This record gives sequence, C-alpha cells and structure tokens, in this order.
Amino acid sequence: MEHQPWLPATWDRDADVIVVGFGAAGAAAAITACEAGAKVLLLDKAPEGQEGGNTRVAGQGYLNTSSVEKAQTYLQALCGPYRVPDDMVQVWAEEMGQNNAWVESIGGDPQEHQHQPVGIEFPELPGADCVHKFHHGPIVGFSHTWGMLERAVKARSIEILYETPGKGLIQHGVTGEIFGVRVVRAGHPYHIAARQAVVLTCGGFENNQEMIRNYLPGVPYCYTSGSPYNEGDGITMAMTVGADLWHMNNFAGPSMALKVPEYPTTFSMVALHFAKQPPGGMIVVGPNGKRFADEKYKTSHGKVNVTGSWTPLTTPCPMFMLMDHTMFSAGPLYDKEPRSGWTPMIERYDWSDDNSTELAKGWIKRAETLPALAQALGLSPAAVTDTVTRWNAQCQAGVDADFGRTLMLAPLQQAPFYAVELSPSMLNTQGGPRRNVRAQIVRPDSSPIPRLYSAGELGSIYSYLYQGTGNIGECLAFGRIAGRNAAAERPWS
Ligand SMILES: Cc1cc2nc3c(=O)[nH]c(=O)nc-3n(C[C@H](O)[C@H](O)[C@H](O)COP(=O)(O)OP(=O)(O)OC[C@H]3O[C@@H](n4cnc5c(N)ncnc54)[C@H](O)[C@@H]3O)c2cc1C
Repeated sequence: MEHQPWLPATWDRDADVIVVGFGAAGAAAAITACEAGAKVLLLDKAPEGQEGGNTRVAGQGYLNTSSVEKAQTYLQALCGPYRVPDDMVQVWAEEMGQNNAWVESIGGDPQEHQHQPVGIEFPELPGADCVHKFHHGPIVGFSHTWGMLERAVKARSIEILYETPGKGLIQHGVTGEIFGVRVVRAGHPYHIAARQAVVLTCGGFENNQEMIRNYLPGVPYCYTSGSPYNEGDGITMAMTVGADLWHMNNFAGPSMALKVPEYPTTFSMVALHFAKQPPGGMIVVGPNGKRFADEKYKTSHGKVNVTGSWTPLTTPCPMFMLMDHTMFSAGPLYDKEPRSGWTPMIERYDWSDDNSTELAKGWIKRAETLPALAQALGLSPAAVTDTVTRWNAQCQAGVDADFGRTLMLAPLQQAPFYAVELSPSMLNTQGGPRRNVRAQIVRPDSSPIPRLYSAGELGSIYSYLYQGTGNIGECLAFGRIAGRNAAAERPWS
C-alpha cells in the first residue's frame, strides 16, 4: 500500500486479527478467530500473571440459557424502560444457549451451580426460568473458569503480548477502516497492523474516575473489586474513531466497601455481607451522621427496589460504618476468603486477626465515646449520638422502623467505638461502544466502523437490570460472534 498520512511510516509487526484485552471476551474472540484460520495476536495491558481482568477474579459463573424464546423475553424484561433492539436481544438469546457446548468444545467441564434457589435474580420477570448458571470444574470461584479459558488460548497458536496497552486505532482517513493498533511496548510507541480486523475486549471504565463522575448515576467516585487495569481505554479508542456509546449509566454497583490509598481495589467488610452476622452493633451513616439504608439488604448487583422501581443504592459520601467493641473484637472485619475479588486473590493482603494492624494504619478509627468518634470523623457529635440512641432503642423493640432491617438488630453499646470509612464500590461497568448483531462497533448513525469489533463488558448489552453470570455468558457469546466475523473479513493489502 502506498504511504498515506494516516498510516504509520512502518509497521512493527502484523497479524490477521488483533484482540485487545485478554479476559473472557478476548479469549473467546481469539480462540474463535484462530479456529477459523486467522493469525491472532492478543494484547494485554497487564503484566503476565495479572492478565485476565475481571474474569480472573470473578465468581466464575457464566450463563447458559435454556430456551431462546424465554431468554428473549427475560432479557427484554431486564431492560425495563431502557430497551435494547429486538435483533440484538435475539442474537444474545440464541448465542447464550450455546455457551456450554462451546466450553466443552475447548476442553471445559460445565457444571451447574448447586446452591438453591438457583440464582435467578429477578424470578418475578417473565421468562426467568431460562436462567441456568454454570462454572468450569469442581467448585465455583478460585479462577477456575478463567484458568480453563487461559489454557485453551495457550494451547493454540495465539501469540500473547503482555504489558502492551492499546492506545489508539489506526484508521483509514477516507474509508474509516481500521487497519491496526497503536500500542506501547517497553515505553515506546509500536504499530501493529491487523490485516483483517481489530476486536476490542479491554473491559470497562471501573478505574477511570473522570468517566465515573460523568457517566455513573449517584456516585461522585467509585472503586472496583475487580481488575485495576480496566480504565476505559477501549471507550476512548472507539470514540476517537467515531463510535457511538450505549449503556454508560449502567453498572454492577454500588455496594459499600473500604478503599485505602495503598491498594487499587476495595476491601469488603464482613458485617455488610448479607449472609454473615458477626456479633456486636453496626450501622452505616452518611455525612449528616444519619443512617440512610438497610445496611444488610441484599441488593441486585447494586440496585434496590424501594420506590417501586429499581435504582442504584443510595451512597451519600463520605459514609462511615460505626461499630462497638463487641464487633471489633470478634475477628477480622475484612472478608478475606480468596474465592473472588482482586484484593483477596491478587493482592492477597493479610488482614490481622484482631484488626490491630489496620487500627494502627488508621484504616479503622477508635474513640472512647461516640461524640469523640464523630468529632474524629468530622461528623456532628449530636447527630451521631442521636442516631445511635435511636438505633439502640429500635434494637430493643426488635423493629427497624426507619429502613426495615431484619438482620443483626444489635445495639452499639460496648465502648470503645470504631469507624471505617466506606466508599461506593462496584464489580464492573456495562457501558461502552455500541455494537450490532455482528459485534461490529457502530457510529451514531448505526453504520459499522469497518474492521472494528467488540465483546464483553466494553459496551455490554445490559442496559438496566443485570442477571448474575450474564456478563461472562455475554463475553463468551459475543466473543465468538466477534471472532467469527473478524476472521471472515477480506484482508486489505
Ligand atoms: C468480584 C467480581 C465477581 C464477578 N462475578 C461474576 C460472575 O460470577 N459471573 C459473571 O458473569 N460476571 C461476574 N463479574 C463480572 C465479570 O467478571 C466481567 O464483566 C467480565 O469478566 C468481563 O470480561 P471482559 O473479557 O469483558 O473484561 P475483563 O475480564 O475485565 O478483561 C479485560 C482485559 O483487558 C485488559 N486491558 C485493559 N485496558 C487495556 C488496553 N488499553 N490494552 C490492552 N489490554 C487492556 C485488562 O488488563 C484485562 O485483562 C464479576 C466481577 C467481579 C469484579
């Protein structure tokens, strides 16, 4: 090809299909394109051992729906007033039912989750009984499904470049075709040609506070329990070449968790887990020193239904979990089981059994009295004292008249008192470049950007309510669609 100003002077290397981001969506796209005969190059921003994104530290469940018709009905119902085009819903429903067959075809062992009920998140919605949640291998969690996907990629002739963030897409100045990716390798710009197509699978914007502030409802800031490498790069790259965006306001959150400057990801607190009930008194207050929610409510991936419609949990920042000495002395406040989540699985922070190390670090604050604790937190001592007095009286009566909490109705009574500052936390974001039924990224007028595809949580189909395991299920489904169509593109020359 003659030199044209939008192309680099030289290409540093080439491939038929470049897949940007090695999580579940990238794995499915890379394997599918490779099996269709394409020379595939897989890039990840993270160093080797930390690739895998949210997939690596997820709960490891993936959705395999049982009936195309019911799955279509259920997904449309999940969208509520935030509808998704029927043709997208249909393709989602058709492909989601193929996940187990595909997992088996690459050497996986699909096992249905055993816990009862089976994890239908919105059983009241039509079509909900299509939901079947699976994982690879003998137990749920512990990166097992991810490990299977990673082994399947490595068993094929797919080259992987770690510590190679995609920075920009190389686009033909007239036709708009995507010809390659500009990356950074060892601190230097590096240009890789994609003779057939580029597939963006580089996750959401969980670690981009500016995008969070601009796009997510109700949270001035928010932190993730997943990969710290997902910084919205795919959104920036796609927007720069003309992509439309969708579902930017939808996210799997917020929950409330501890975030400290020393670590990039959040620490979940045992006392806030709906299924755990440590002894002692615990409430959460906002900046006015008052409670604002049932602290033990099991949200539907961050959404609560308190007004007749589902909305993100209110998280007035800063928020503080207040507790008494009974709870503080009953064991680690942090839920450190390494089944899922970046902090326990990758950082492996060893929280002290008696919470003393974290008290010394200042992650936990202590005072002999409630007014003194409030003062240390910058809250009104009178408001905090009133709130705790009211809570203690409600515990005595056995009824939380304010928020209907039914779990851990225990007073805060044994001094000293303690506090942990909480931040909004999330599993992932769902928004990103809009795609069509062929997994092509489209412009605002719905025309596809030639040779550009996407899959996974970067522009996920979920627009409102979210069914657990739907994300990895979608990664596998749309990863296959993207890989298939990318490998079918006619090479440019
Ligand atoms: C704690 C937790 C539990 C969860 N449990 C479940 C569950 O059980 N089931 C379910 O369906 N979903 C679950 N989710 C959500 C799910 O994990 C994700 O939505 C899904 O794994 C996203 O997959 P992905 O391939 O789109 O992105 P990811 O798996 O996040 O992969 C993206 C990859 O892109 C890389 N990357 C980022 N930027 C660049 C760049 N510029 N260039 C190159 N590479 C880049 C990242 O390093 C990463 O490896 C959970 C999430 C969390 C955090």
